[in-house]
Amino acid sequence: MRKSIYLFIVTFFCSLVATSQAAFSVNSFCIAAPSQDRVDDFVHFITSELAPNGVNTLILRVDFNYAYESRKELRDDNPLSRESVKKIVSACQKNNIEVIPQVNLLGHQSWAEKLNKLLEVYPEFDETPHVKIPEKYEWPNKDGLYCKSYCPLHPQVHEVVFDLIDEIMEVFEAKAFHAGLDEVFYIADPLCPRCKGKDPAQLFAGEVTLLSQHIDKKGGRLWIWGDRLIDGATTGIGMWEGSTNHTEKAVDMIPKSVVICDWHYEKAIPTPAYFALKGFDVVACSWRKPEVAVQQVKMMQGFKQNSTPEMQDHFLGVMHTVWSPAGNFLDKYDDPKQEDGEKGSDLQCFKAMVSAVQKIETDQ
Ligand SMILES: [Zn+2]
Repeated sequence: MRKSIYLFIVTFFCSLVATSQAAFSVNSFCIAAPSQDRVDDFVHFITSELAPNGVNTLILRVDFNYAYESRKELRDDNPLSRESVKKIVSACQKNNIEVIPQVNLLGHQSWAEKLNKLLEVYPEFDETPHVKIPEKYEWPNKDGLYCKSYCPLHPQVHEVVFDLIDEIMEVFEAKAFHAGLDEVFYIADPLCPRCKGKDPAQLFAGEVTLLSQHIDKKGGRLWIWGDRLIDGATTGIGMWEGSTNHTEKAVDMIPKSVVICDWHYEKAIPTPAYFALKGFDVVACSWRKPEVAVQQVKMMQGFKQNSTPEMQDHFLGVMHTVWSPAGNFLDKYDDPKQEDGEKGSDLQCFKAMVSAVQKIETDQ
């Protein structure tokens, strides 16, 4: 009897040690939601690849690819049904993966020649209605058009946006929501009657705060990309992974509960320390360079090891991001010969990230 109690105690403490060996609290994977006809393949991918590789958080970029009931007018063609979403949710729950849906807000309201659904249906929300979407998109262009933005001060825009957030969090049974908010180039436009002359940082922070408060009230948490909060000029990081349009001071104006997804695809730039020093939880994000993903894993572990207990918990972990359609990535996963090598490989980058995390865990 005493022996069995002893064994129980040993087993109990061993299990505690095993649990504490996870390198990070967040090992995440970010991808566009699949098309309706690839849902079963995607569910298989969750079960057979994400879960065994230790992924515990899935950021799913849904945008308008869902059959919204509250806002039927904003459905893309052939959107995901409620049943399809529930298949994904069920697969994630069975594998202890938290799923966080994303609808890109503020910026990214168009892509190349295509206006996204929000501004197509509600053109009055457009921050720059005087900028026409070209027949053939090229970058750079005279309008500085990368993507359209909605006007954060339009009196009706949040009624619509909050409906989308509420419904997508409900169907995904989500505790967190990712609002995108990256690469917002059109903000405080001098021709917008509401925003002209206003401070871009205050406008950006106002939008983040409003979204965060709405999600907080539901017991959830807001996640965003971090680029608009970094001074792109002083750091040399530039206008994409940082901000050169004067939004960076918003870092001191937004709620500390917001989770920052700090993406740097060419180098493991040490900005996660900046966000942690400001009191934010932060995730380092990679894309298609395996060596960058490996360095980000090492960097985040180094930050944790060399930080005070107050800061350690802010370094949540890492994220792999996929920017091609989900179906393309699934095809590549099944047939790696399809790899497009020259500029790097999102598939190899994902594998490098999970291997680097596993190496830390086995070395501990
Ligand atoms: Zn405006």
